[in-house]
Amino acid sequence: MPIDPTRPYDDDNIFARILRDEIPSKRVYEDEWAIAFHDINPQARLHILVIPRGKYVSWDDFAAKANDEEIGGFIRAVANVAREHDLVQPGYRLLANVGHDGGQEVPHLHVHLFGGQRLGPMIA
Ligand code: IMP
Repeated sequence: MPIDPTRPYDDDNIFARILRDEIPSKRVYEDEWAIAFHDINPQARLHILVIPRGKYVSWDDFAAKANDEEIGGFIRAVANVAREHDLVQPGYRLLANVGHDGGQEVPHLHVHLFGGQRLGPMIA
């Protein structure tokens, strides 16, 4: 079920629990601002989720409430994940689903990073 993006942050959402290491994940990156781990249901040869350590429901919530240092740190973390997986030269794709119409299922901001193959055109 897509989330209601206007509801308050839920401390027990699955990504909050992954951040606290309460449930396992295949972590591939971490720094002061973000962690990244493999998507449990990959949609490409490489499908990684990058999430901020801060408690933000969505991209919109993050843009509204995070400070510039946190936003910069998160964007750099996403780029670092791609670089560390040697994706810069072949290229990759980033995606953030937001709210109901965007099909967002987990109410903690996450950026999908797809790579490792030639990706098809975007579909609605
Ligand atoms: P959304 O639709 O943008 O919210 O994407 C949520 C993503 O989280 C989906 O691609 C799921 O496969 C992924 N996902 C859900 N639970 C887990 C988990 O426990 N570990 C890793 N990925 C998960």
